[in-house]
Amino acid sequence: MTAPFSRLSDDDLATCVHCGLCLDACPTFRVTGLETESPRGRIYLMTQWKRGTLEFDEEQVKHIDLCLGCRTCEGVCPSGVPYGRIIEAGRADVEDQRRPSIKRAASRAALRQLVGHRGRLRAAGDATRLAQKLRLTSVSRSGRMLPKLAPRFQPPASNVAPAIGPRKHRVAFLVGCVMPILYPQSHDAAVRLLQLAGCEVWFPPDEQCCGALFAHNGDLEGAGRLRETNSRIYDAGQFDALVVDSAGCGAHLKDFYPALKNRVKDLSEWLAEAGLPEPKRDVKMRVTYQDACHLAHAQRIKKQPRDLIRAIPGVDWVEMRHADICCGAAGLYSTLEPDMSNRILQEKLDDLAATRADVVAVANPGCQMQLEAGLRKRGSAMKVLHVSELLARAY
Ligand code: SF4
Ligand code: SF4
Repeated sequence: MTAPFSRLSDDDLATCVHCGLCLDACPTFRVTGLETESPRGRIYLMTQWKRGTLEFDEEQVKHIDLCLGCRTCEGVCPSGVPYGRIIEAGRADVEDQRRPSIKRAASRAALRQLVGHRGRLRAAGDATRLAQKLRLTSVSRSGRMLPKLAPRFQPPASNVAPAIGPRKHRVAFLVGCVMPILYPQSHDAAVRLLQLAGCEVWFPPDEQCCGALFAHNGDLEGAGRLRETNSRIYDAGQFDALVVDSAGCGAHLKDFYPALKNRVKDLSEWLAEAGLPEPKRDVKMRVTYQDACHLAHAQRIKKQPRDLIRAIPGVDWVEMRHADICCGAAGLYSTLEPDMSNRILQEKLDDLAATRADVVAVANPGCQMQLEAGLRKRGSAMKVLHVSELLARAY
């Protein structure tokens, strides 16, 4: 076991000047109004534990558990607090100190034994797809949240998809762990858009989960092992950019894979740079957009997806109130902290309803699943589409 709270950095913690400007942007503070459920409160708690001036207390850890890791606080902090790094290190430190719990052990085991093994995860996806076909649907919350699964995303046998028209770039594409199972149509559309933008798309063979869910869950060792495997694979390839259509994975790759840092690009970021051809078709829909926290706050990308959507002919664009506030999905959070997740979701659904949009566009599978489940429960006809699917409708 490492020394208590040795992963948390004193320098990182000291960047907080306790101004409180982040409080109103924090979804858990907005719901509870409690200092302990705010970024400032959580940083204070972790600082005292690290200094040894506050006894570690299992009850207080709940305030750390309730953090979504959405990093909205990071985006608004005038002092440049690296909150994402603080909460990931803090969670890993807390895991070493706290009493074991079945729920947390199960989530860690599920990540290590399932998500960290591509073959097992795909087999589980295939079994779930079959169960859905036979209407043997799960009664668990996470089972009810699942979308209807289409056939899994398959890269071409050659692991390369050619550019449509003259080749301008060669990009690698992150297939990832859950995305090819839950939302294969988003990947299909993303790859087609890349081809239309003149990119030859390479699918790194044997690539594993990037480790984002592990790090988010306080398992930095598990995330590190995946990084080692993936780094070897990426090192062996040649590409201008590694394009990612899942915001959580993109943020993790940018933060956690220093050798790749400048070449990791969110799909919207890359398409805005590479340029798409003129759209061929009108998409007559009223459309709004939900910022993914790990795109808007961790990667500071808000403009590109909006510009791409607004450039689609026929789209009736409507900006949503609080679009950059978390929807409550946050990786495994909706499963581990369902009550808080649901309270945050309800405000989001009210804001969505007020837009009277036909479609809400998203850039992350967790947000998509959370919004779909919430809208379904309310009986709403609003559709949730990945930005890639919406853009692809114009071609
Ligand atoms: S995290 Fe940033 S915004 Fe929040 S209290 Fe600390 S310095 Fe202020
Ligand atoms: S990461 Fe999100 S939930 Fe956690 S303290 Fe920051 S704003 Fe609040």
